[in-house]
Amino acid sequence: MSTSPTTLAAHDRDSLEQWMHARGEPRSHAGRVLRAFYGGCGELDWDALELSAGLRETLRHEFAARATHELRRVAAADGTTKLLLGLARGGAVETVMMPSYRAGEAWCCVSSQVGCAMGCDFCASTRGGLERNLEVDEIVEQYLRVGALAAAQGRRVRRLVFMGMGEPLHNLDAVLPAIERIAGPGLGNLGWRRITVSTVGIVQGIAKLAAAAHPVFLALSLHAPDDATRSRIVPAGKRYGVAEILTAARDYQATTDRIVTIEYCLLAGVNDSDAQAELLAERLADFRAHVNVIPYNATGPGLSGITYVRPSPARVERFLAILRGRGVVAHARDTRGDDVAAACGQLREGSRAS
Ligand code: SAH
Repeated sequence: MSTSPTTLAAHDRDSLEQWMHARGEPRSHAGRVLRAFYGGCGELDWDALELSAGLRETLRHEFAARATHELRRVAAADGTTKLLLGLARGGAVETVMMPSYRAGEAWCCVSSQVGCAMGCDFCASTRGGLERNLEVDEIVEQYLRVGALAAAQGRRVRRLVFMGMGEPLHNLDAVLPAIERIAGPGLGNLGWRRITVSTVGIVQGIAKLAAAAHPVFLALSLHAPDDATRSRIVPAGKRYGVAEILTAARDYQATTDRIVTIEYCLLAGVNDSDAQAELLAERLADFRAHVNVIPYNATGPGLSGITYVRPSPARVERFLAILRGRGVVAHARDTRGDDVAAACGQLREGSRAS
């Protein structure tokens, strides 16, 4: 339902050049406008642009609209800041700015859909189901808004992950053009190697991403080494088995030469046993993937009614030790922003949790 006007974030260089051309203006103005737009994190000082007064007024009028507006901002004690963004075309999404441990740097976590259809039992984003896919500008503006937030703290966004709400591989028609804008020179300038797309494991989507002009990093939300456990906690696992999605991940790495991350949310008594760590290591033999163990962040009872529990630090260490002992590169992800429900799995439209 794109009834709202076009935004600048919806344009790429080509389409804005055509826009200029159609109005009898030099195509070269497009690059200048987009550089200023991205350079100012989406805030454009039209008067500073060297354009004719007539064109400036037309542009100002035509592109006054934004796809997103800030509804709420919550900052955690560690500086992680969650934005609740209202969407002009309906709904709301969350996006997160994480200050990096490196001075002057920040990370950005964006959403790809309003809600999520995947039904992972331990994740809050799926509780209300899927409302709709995000459009290109709705994704790009998340990056710009996080960029502005980071700039106010003297930081620059140096890494962007599609680990917010939604399944990005179910919305590649918008995710791929958004990546082009966010990464591309003269636009967002982030660079393709600074972007990671995280998926529940949509096999055809992984192949499509590998075939994109500029492959990014892939993270695969595995969460269990066997189909019986996985399909209990990740319903999408009933469609694609562990063996099949690991094959897709290996192919991705072979095609793109980008090391794949295997995400594994540790749930006490569900997927954190020694035997499961051993089986995971076995399934990853000869695969130079990195395992990212994520101790569960509380989200309340899942759709199944089960309330999951985070394993003890000793259990997390033991799980990591087994993987490492078998030659698997494995790390535990630090929990960021959990005091304002901005950590992994806690993002939810409307921020009902905060
Ligand atoms: N749909 C995509 C991207 C969103 S999830 C995907 O499934 O990868 C981003 C990461 O957060 C995933 O690895 C997900 O499994 C993890 N996650 C979800 N809920 C969590 C929770 N409650 N605690 C910790 N990690 C969680």
